[in-house]
Amino acid sequence: MSEARGGAPRTAVVVGAGMVGLSTAWFLQEQGVEVTVVDRRDVAAGASWGNAGWISPGLSIPLPEPSVLRYGLRSLLDRNAPLYVPVRVDVGLWSFLLRFAAHCTMRAWRRSMRGFLPVNAQCLDAYDQLAENGISVPTVEAPITAAFEKRAQAADLLRELALIRDSGQDIGFAELTGQEVRERMPQVSERVELAIRLDGQRYVDPGAYTNALGEAVEKRGGTVRGGFTVADVRPEGGGIAVRSTEGESVRGDAVVLAAGSWMTGLARRLGVRTRVQAGRGYSFTVPTEQPVPGPLYLPAVRVACTPYQGGLRVAGTMEFRGPDDPLDQGRIRAIVSSARPLMEGIAWEERTDEWVGPRPVTPDGLPLVGATKAPGVYVAGGHGMWGLTLGPITGRLLAEQITTGRRPRELAAFDPLR
Ligand SMILES: Cc1cc2nc3c(=O)[nH]c(=O)nc-3n(C[C@H](O)[C@H](O)[C@H](O)COP(=O)(O)OP(=O)(O)OC[C@H]3O[C@@H](n4cnc5c(N)ncnc54)[C@H](O)[C@@H]3O)c2cc1C
Repeated sequence: MSEARGGAPRTAVVVGAGMVGLSTAWFLQEQGVEVTVVDRRDVAAGASWGNAGWISPGLSIPLPEPSVLRYGLRSLLDRNAPLYVPVRVDVGLWSFLLRFAAHCTMRAWRRSMRGFLPVNAQCLDAYDQLAENGISVPTVEAPITAAFEKRAQAADLLRELALIRDSGQDIGFAELTGQEVRERMPQVSERVELAIRLDGQRYVDPGAYTNALGEAVEKRGGTVRGGFTVADVRPEGGGIAVRSTEGESVRGDAVVLAAGSWMTGLARRLGVRTRVQAGRGYSFTVPTEQPVPGPLYLPAVRVACTPYQGGLRVAGTMEFRGPDDPLDQGRIRAIVSSARPLMEGIAWEERTDEWVGPRPVTPDGLPLVGATKAPGVYVAGGHGMWGLTLGPITGRLLAEQITTGRRPRELAAFDPLR
């Protein structure tokens, strides 16, 4: 093994076989690096499996914002609200929530948004590069249709879209009447008065995509190992040793921690002070009477629906709990009862694939991508609501940093040591 410090690494270990870790592994291979990916369970065992599958540069924005704080405070009183904070909050979660709340200002949002712009601008291109090089799971171009029961409810989204545009993010949108939207999308019920169509977005089957990435990494000579829970990362003999809880060890010239919502335990020891908190979301699949033409968003109840394997995947909820806590059936029922009045032709009782998974949320809404205090050790994660959209571009930029030793400008705002 032979990383000349300052020279390009020849080998790398990536911890976490989700969208972000596997994208990083794939792009490191593009630069000639030999990769080993380890995961405590398997490929797509975290948030990358059951998410809504939107590849949406137009909506990829920082989460902390004044309206999110107002909404959050209202939700605390309602057990069935889409946002859930447990009654007994531990010290770590308290400090996360206070920091998150402190970032819910327009000034902080604008600053963080400037960090998103350059990666949003390139995220589809990174997907196209993967498609051109053998990842055959299609990303489908389709608008996202946001439906509202009452015209007044659209004000928040319209205000948000104006902010997004003013910040420099390209997003095309148009208003549709209830009738216009029903002609295009039979799943929208008579109660819907108005919709906003967001153009230029895509969607994908996220589990299939992540699995395809894992297979591609192996086909290109990499190793992907499940059942390897990383306990420790430390310099050893000119390289870096990644040790499992079982005492096994793999070594690389460089190491990338892409452990999603589980990141903090490992990353804190490397000087990363920003906590990654699980913002858990739920999803399930239901059959539909008619094919679903594209993603449907119900902003008033915070539910995201996506065509999925001939049916519809329905996703929602933000639950600040431990990433491994059990699935709460009450959250699934709350999603069904909030979405049902706005939709038609859905067999709600024939749900399959009920799932909960942890969005890796940071208090300032910015991902953590780049070098840690330990030479040769990097982190990639904390993308919150948008890790599927930003996974490939994150991998491409970080692979560039790792192999050239120079941080791309686009990653400056995501400095993990901030
Ligand atoms: C309901 C829901 C809907 C969403 N919808 C969208 C969407 O439409 N579009 C979008 O862009 N994003 C969406 N997201 C967010 C997106 O899913 C995440 O941001 C993204 O999947 C994060 O990817 P990741 O690779 O960082 O983490 P993960 O996919 O969670 O992967 C982390 C991996 O690390 C492994 N790991 C953890 N600890 C260790 C350890 N100690 N040793 C070894 N391995 C370890 C885990 O097993 C896991 O496989 C949604 C999320 C949810 C929950």
